[in-house]
Amino acid sequence: TRQSDDDAEPGRVRVAIRLRPKNTEDLSDADFFDCVELQPEQLMKLKLKKNNWSSDSYRFDEVFTESASQKRVYEAVAKPVVEGVLNGYNGTIMAYGQTGTGKTYTLGKLGKDDASERGIMVRALEDIIASASPASDSVEMSYLQIYMESVQDLLAPEKVNIPIVDDPKNGEVSVPGAAVVKIQNLDHFLHLLQIGEANRHAANTRMNTESSRSHAILMVSVRRSVIDKEENDTSFQGKDDTSVLVGGHVIPTVRKSKLLIVDLAGSERLDKSGSEGHLVEETKFINLSLSSLGKCINALAENSPHIPTRDSKLTRLLRDSFGGSARTSLIVTIGPSSRYHTETASTIMFGQRAM
Ligand code: ADP
Ligand code: MG
Repeated sequence: TRQSDDDAEPGRVRVAIRLRPKNTEDLSDADFFDCVELQPEQLMKLKLKKNNWSSDSYRFDEVFTESASQKRVYEAVAKPVVEGVLNGYNGTIMAYGQTGTGKTYTLGKLGKDDASERGIMVRALEDIIASASPASDSVEMSYLQIYMESVQDLLAPEKVNIPIVDDPKNGEVSVPGAAVVKIQNLDHFLHLLQIGEANRHAANTRMNTESSRSHAILMVSVRRSVIDKEENDTSFQGKDDTSVLVGGHVIPTVRKSKLLIVDLAGSERLDKSGSEGHLVEETKFINLSLSSLGKCINALAENSPHIPTRDSKLTRLLRDSFGGSARTSLIVTIGPSSRYHTETASTIMFGQRAM
């Protein structure tokens, strides 16, 4: 178990928990009670009560009550990852939780009518676009879905079963078959997200499934021209600045990094719902990818030299964007009602595996 003040430490997964406000179902449900108690005086703790007698506390890096704003969640959880990406480090931001607890709200909310509602994707791109130089830097995106171990392109929906490629030379993971679009500005990005969302809806209708059964992955690649300051500083030693510049020692280099924002499939266990056929197959694949993600997160938490990323498409895609020098944040989302006590408890345990 690590300290909470080493949040800039690469390779470490920062874990936040976010409680969704009560909805009409929760409020009209006389048989159930609030099963989640967040402790404001000890922000790292969360209490889960059942029938008002059992109580356990869990520790997280950040605890967001139902009144936490989108801005606050972004700044505490996502901004450090985005800053790493702007400095040349890969990063991943993921949301994990039962369907209906706020994963898409937290990550993908567009906030078209009210900018304060914007989620992490929009805020991250706002920051990236603001610091990229239009003349020398480029910001590109792909938008993917993984459904039943098939990678699909949400910007070019005719593409399915796209291979994930591991480059043995530089260790980079890429999906060269997917569409890559250069982002012009924030409005352009919002437009691309909407296209992706519409394609996701259409594809899932065609496949007779729901978006909660697949993972959606926004992949943003940033390329920046940088003058390598440190190299210059050494080459300056014993020389005067001008001779270095005239001598052509100042060579701009290109720094590449990648940000993945992952809206995971719903974490609910569907095996007890009496599902049959196709749904059973879907469930197997969801369980496979989420449990292999859990194993990787666990291995990272234990500082294991081996992160088992080969077991699912999801973790293969994430391989170069977590662990090592990459920054990773995981947001676990939960609802307040004791009706879903079991799901909430298992979601919390997943988050605890990263701590
Ligand atoms: P998920 O993606 O996990 O299935 P959603 O993000 O779609 O869940 O959220 C379910 C519903 O709850 C949506 O109507 C969403 O707007 C609302 N919601 C979720 N989290 C919040 C929040 N923190 N504040 C306000 N509304 C929220
Ligand atoms: Mg969702």
